[in-house]
Amino acid sequence: MATPLTDQEKRKQISIRGIVGVENVAELKKGFNRHLHFTLVKDRNIATPRDYYFALAHTVRDHLVGRWIRTQQFYYETDPKRVYYLSLEFYMGRTLQNTMINLGLQNACDEAIYQLGLDMEELEEMEEDAGLGNGGLGRLAACFLDSMATLGLAAYGYGIRYEYGIFNQKIRDGWQVEEADDWLRHGNPWEKARPEYMLPVHFYGRVEETRGGSKWVDTQVVLAMPYDTPIPGYMNNTVNTMRLWSARAPNDFNLRDFNVGDYIEAVLDRNLAENITRVLYPNDNFFEGKELRLKQEYFVVAATLQDIIRRFKTSKRGDAARTSFESFPEKVAVQLNDTHPAMAIPELMRIFVDIEKLDWDTSTAAGINKEAWDLTRRTFAYTNHTVLPEALERWPVALLEKLLPRHLQIIYHINQVHLDRIAALFPKDMEKLRKMSLIEEDGCKRVNMAHLCIVGSHAVNGVAEIHSNIIKTDVFSSKSVSCRPLQAAPGYHMAKMIIRLITSVADVVNNDPVVGNKLKVIFLENYRVSLAEKVIPATDLSEQISTAGTEASGTGNMKFMLNGALTIGTMDGANVEMAEEAGEENLFIFGMRVADVAELDKSGYDAMLYYKRIPELKHVMDQITSGFFSPKNPDLFKELTDMLFKFDRFKVFADFEDYIKCQEKVSKLYQEWTKMVIRNIAATGKFSSDRTITQYATEVWGVKPTDLKIPPPNEPREAIEKTARALKKM
Ligand SMILES: *Cc1c(COP(=O)(O)O)cnc(C)c1O
Repeated sequence: MATPLTDQEKRKQISIRGIVGVENVAELKKGFNRHLHFTLVKDRNIATPRDYYFALAHTVRDHLVGRWIRTQQFYYETDPKRVYYLSLEFYMGRTLQNTMINLGLQNACDEAIYQLGLDMEELEEMEEDAGLGNGGLGRLAACFLDSMATLGLAAYGYGIRYEYGIFNQKIRDGWQVEEADDWLRHGNPWEKARPEYMLPVHFYGRVEETRGGSKWVDTQVVLAMPYDTPIPGYMNNTVNTMRLWSARAPNDFNLRDFNVGDYIEAVLDRNLAENITRVLYPNDNFFEGKELRLKQEYFVVAATLQDIIRRFKTSKRGDAARTSFESFPEKVAVQLNDTHPAMAIPELMRIFVDIEKLDWDTSTAAGINKEAWDLTRRTFAYTNHTVLPEALERWPVALLEKLLPRHLQIIYHINQVHLDRIAALFPKDMEKLRKMSLIEEDGCKRVNMAHLCIVGSHAVNGVAEIHSNIIKTDVFSSKSVSCRPLQAAPGYHMAKMIIRLITSVADVVNNDPVVGNKLKVIFLENYRVSLAEKVIPATDLSEQISTAGTEASGTGNMKFMLNGALTIGTMDGANVEMAEEAGEENLFIFGMRVADVAELDKSGYDAMLYYKRIPELKHVMDQITSGFFSPKNPDLFKELTDMLFKFDRFKVFADFEDYIKCQEKVSKLYQEWTKMVIRNIAATGKFSSDRTITQYATEVWGVKPTDLKIPPPNEPREAIEKTARALKKM
C-alpha cells in the first residue's frame, strides 16, 4: 500500500507538474488575449496559428521577466564569481516548451490553451528553431547554459546573433540542396535588444610604439549590439542571460574617409560591416580559413571581454578592489568552447598591458607572477572538441598581421616566453621546440590556435574520457599546408554523395516487391533540434559506429540511451563510458579498439583484402559499382567507391565483418530488449549535463552550485537579502 504524502511532499509534487489552479489558468488566458490584442494587433477572426503561438510566447515570457531582473540584481548584490561560456555556436532549438516546463507552467498553459479552443501542439510547431549551431558543439553549449542556470551558477553565454543560422536542408531528386534559414523573419519574442550597451570593435590598422607602450591605431570600427535571451533554471527562480552580439555599422561609416561626397554609396557600404554577423559557417569539424570567419571570432571576443571587464569594474566591491585586477581570476572564469574564441587570450593580454597598463609579468624572489599573463592563464580554460587535423584552426600569420596586427605581436611574445621555458626544460631539443611552438613554420606560416589555448589556459579538457586521454598525446601533431583558404570542405562533396547513395538505396529497397512493405529506408530531411526531440525517443537501435579514436565524444549516443534506445557501437567517444555505466553486456560493442587501429596503421590498411575475403562486403560494393542503385547513371558513385578502396582514412572495411556479426546478435536479442533498455536508462545519470557542469564548477571554475532558490518576484526585497546571507554562510 502506498504511504500517504506529507503536505510538503504534496506541495513538491504539485510544483514539479505545475499548478493548474483556476486563478492560474484564468490569468494565463487573460495574458494570452491581451497579447493577441495589444502585441499582435489581431482578433480571433483573423488570427493565424502563428499569431496564437506569439501570443502564448509573450504570455509565458511575462512570467520570466521578474525572475530575470531579480536574478541579475541578486548577482550584483552578492557578487559571486561569474562563469562566462564563450562559443561561436549556441544550438538552442525551440524555447517555448522548455520555458513552460522550467517555470512549472506547462499544465496550466495546456489547460488555458485547451479552454481557448486551440491546439497546443499546433502552436508549438509554429516556433522556428534557433539553429545557431552545426551539431554537437553548439548543442553542448545550449545544454550547458540550461544546467548552469539549474545549478544556480552566476553564468553567461556569449556568442553571435547570426541573422541566418544553419541552412535548411531540402532533398530534391535525391540530392541535398540548401536554403537560407531566415529564422528572424517573423520576429523573435525571446530576445531583447540592448542598443544602450553597444560596444566598438576594432579591425585592421597598425601598431604605434610610444613611450607609454604599444598603441593600436588607424583601425576600422564596427559596433557590437547585444541581444539578451533569458535562460531559466529548472524550478529555481534563476534566470541567467545569453548575450548574442550583432554587427552594426557606425553612423559615420565610410563617410569621413572614403566616400566623401557620396552619401548614398556610403550608406550602401554599411552592409560590409554588418555582414560580420550575417551567417553561421556550416562547417562541422572543418577549418576553412576564411577572413570573414576570423572577423566573427574576434568580433564576439572583443565585445564580450569589454562587457566582462565593465561588469568586473562596476561590481559592488570597494573602489580599490575595482581598479585592481589582482582578484580578476577569483571573480571571472572564461570557458573557451573549442579554439573558435581563442583570440580572447591575446585580447585580454592587450587590455591588461596596453590599456590597463599592467606589466606582462613580474618575477618576485619567491618566483610568483601576479601580473597580466598570470591573471590571464588563471582566467581561461579550454575545451578541445576534435583531433581530426582538418578541423584544427591554424590562422595564417599574414591574415592576422593585416586584420589584428597588435594581437599577432602579442601572440609572438607569448610564444617567445613559452619557447624559452621549453628550451630551459629540454636544452637543445629543436624538434620539441618546433612541435610545441604556437607558430608553424613549415609550409605557410600559421598560428596553431589549439597550442595558443593550451598555453593560455589553466585547464584543458576533451569532451569524453577517452578523448581527454587522446589529446594529451595527439593535438600536437600537424602537417604543413599552403596559405590559400581551403575552398569548400573536401568532405562536403563526399557527404553530399553519401546522402545521394542513401536516397538511391531507399528508392530500390522501398519499391522492392518483397521487402518494400516490411522495411523502409527513410532519409530524414533537415535534421535539427526540434526534429531530434521527436526522432530520438522513437528510436530502438542507435548506431554509433565511428572508427575508434575518431569521434571525440558524440552526444547523440547519450541522448538515445537516456530515451530508451539500445546502442550498437565501437569503443569510441562516450560509448566507452556508456558501456562502463550500463555494463558492456547491455550494449552491442563491436570493432577495433584504439590500439587495434594504431596497430593496423602500422601494418598498413588494405581495403581490397577485406573486399576479397568477406562475401557480404564484396556483394555490397559490387552492387554499388555496377549501378544497381543508380541504373540511369551506373558511375554515379565511382568517387565514393574509389575513396573506400583507395583513400579511406576511417578504414571502415576493417570493422565491417564484426559489425554484421553484431547486427545478427541485435536481431536475436530483440525479445530481451526491454530488460536491456531499462538497464541502459538507469545507467545514464552520469550523462546529465548537470553532472558535467557540477564537475566544471568545482574542478575548473572554482565556484559552488547551489540549490538555494532566489525568491520569486512577488516576495519583498528582504527575502533576497535573507537568501544572500544564507549563501554567504555556505
Ligand atoms: C545532439 C545533436 C547533434 C549532435 O549529435 P552527435 O551524435 O553528437 O553528432 C546534432 N544535431 C542535433 C540537432 C542534435 O540534437
